[in-house]
Amino acid sequence: MKKINYKIIGLIGFIIIFIGVIAINKTHYVSYVDFYKKVNNKEIDTIFYNDSDKIKFKEKNNNKIYTTDNPRKEDFKEDMLIKGIAFKEQTNIGEAIYAFLGLSLIGVIVFTAYKKTRKNVIPIKQFNKEEKGNVFFKDIAGNEEAKENAKDIVDFLKHPDKYKKLNAKIPKGIIFYGQPGTGKTMLAKAIASEAGVDFYSACGSDFIEMYVGVGASRVRSLFKKARESKKAVIFIDEIDAIGKKRATSLQNNNEEREQTLNALLTEMSGFSSDENIVVIAATNRLDILDDALVRAGRFDRHIEIALPDIVAREKILTLLLKNKKIDKDINIKDIAKKTIYFSGAMLDLLINEASIIAIKDDNDKINASHIDKAYLKILAGDSKKDTSFLTKEDKKITAIHEAGHAIVTKSLNLASIVKISILPTIKGAGGFCVNIFNEKQFKTKKDLESEIISLYGGRCAEELILGKENITTGAYNDIEKATKIIIDYISKYAMMEDSLLNYDILNEDKNIIKQCKIIALNLYNQTKNILLANKDCLDSLINELLEKETLDEDEINNILKNCV
Ligand code: ADP
Repeated sequence: MKKINYKIIGLIGFIIIFIGVIAINKTHYVSYVDFYKKVNNKEIDTIFYNDSDKIKFKEKNNNKIYTTDNPRKEDFKEDMLIKGIAFKEQTNIGEAIYAFLGLSLIGVIVFTAYKKTRKNVIPIKQFNKEEKGNVFFKDIAGNEEAKENAKDIVDFLKHPDKYKKLNAKIPKGIIFYGQPGTGKTMLAKAIASEAGVDFYSACGSDFIEMYVGVGASRVRSLFKKARESKKAVIFIDEIDAIGKKRATSLQNNNEEREQTLNALLTEMSGFSSDENIVVIAATNRLDILDDALVRAGRFDRHIEIALPDIVAREKILTLLLKNKKIDKDINIKDIAKKTIYFSGAMLDLLINEASIIAIKDDNDKINASHIDKAYLKILAGDSKKDTSFLTKEDKKITAIHEAGHAIVTKSLNLASIVKISILPTIKGAGGFCVNIFNEKQFKTKKDLESEIISLYGGRCAEELILGKENITTGAYNDIEKATKIIIDYISKYAMMEDSLLNYDILNEDKNIIKQCKIIALNLYNQTKNILLANKDCLDSLINELLEKETLDEDEINNILKNCV
């Protein structure tokens, strides 16, 4: 059947109404004086009276309709009837109908235009399935526990009957949680590839629109597509965009997010027994997800994908370097050791940067110095090429600040210092001091205090050498980091002697500032004592930095060998 063209029908309707309205109103106007003359001359047959400011009348001889002004006289009707003129009272029904139709048509046009604009404003999201089989378990290094869990899911997808026989419920929703770049997406893709099923992916923010209901319809469209495959993995990255804990009744509810979340939960409850679809969601923060989302029967399997430890980093680096030409001087264990807190994605970036540096060096192999350069580039950023704008005073302040950090770090044996520079970087730092921290599963109270002292080292050195009045803004970032650690020290880890409570749960913020100040001052005084005890070392390091601008590990260790 041919599609009805509503646009053409609308246009024809509009023309008819338009002509009708014109036809109704197209009467010749006669002044009231002339009208009255016609009345007196007995030329008028009928008067069509209504309440408006104009009335119509029909002439006897030509049946033509004319308009004239409504005199709105009380005895007008009687006057006309006495003169033998027919008097018909009307409500302007014809015009009213046309006006109604006209208004309706305008309404339809405005509504259609609004719908059209909405369609244009909201992009129609296409959730496409990805080509099968481009990432497998063998491509993921480390993360052994997560891979073990993932293997179970592959088995559910491959052999659902095995589980049905025992009436075991196949998990529908799995959450991968962990820091960005730890391989959550990779693992979800590998599950689909290993099971040989389709992989559909979306990001939580894809569902969030300012128009209520759009997110929910996108959820339905994603699930509809996946259902067509019968067996599939749906991956929703950044699930927190839609799955954050719902607001309490006192707070403002986000209706759109709520509807989207409900649509997701409804779709997940609606899988039939012959559909083998697993939904994997990823987040950095499991704790902020709505209880309805993580409860039994929904996203009830939670798998942590943690930052790689030294052994995992070594495995990831080995995998990443497998197809690269590398020099004999590369020691993967050493790289793994100094890349503490690096995610898999950062390790990938490190190797890629090193490859680029090797190419720029006209070298066909990546060597240790390429890795070192890439490492510094990632941690500190490239040094600025043009430093002509730096004054002697700027360099002195940076040298004092960085030397202060280095002395306390060394004195507390907190980390090995691999590089100090007083040259500004394109990341915005005035200079930098790169430390490699000792890898630990847990941080002690002493560790946290040492970290704070190390952060205060720069400001404290400025105060000791330049004087209280001349401290600079250079410590901005250190103060921010130290404050965060102090707040956690008190509120999360309950490390203050007189408190064993979590302040976040208590919503306590009245006394915390007072306590933070006490801790900060105490640790700042400790920093001062360390620097005063090592004043000679501090002076030597400052002088050496002013002379050479950049110092590497051996040079630093040599200057700081007498540090106490
Ligand atoms: P996430 O989803 O957790 O943010 P991705 O899965 O997108 O992280 O990982 C980004 C990149 O990091 C991958 O494409 C890969 O190159 C690298 N990567 C991360 N973890 C690993 C790992 N365990 N093994 C190998 N490569 C990894």
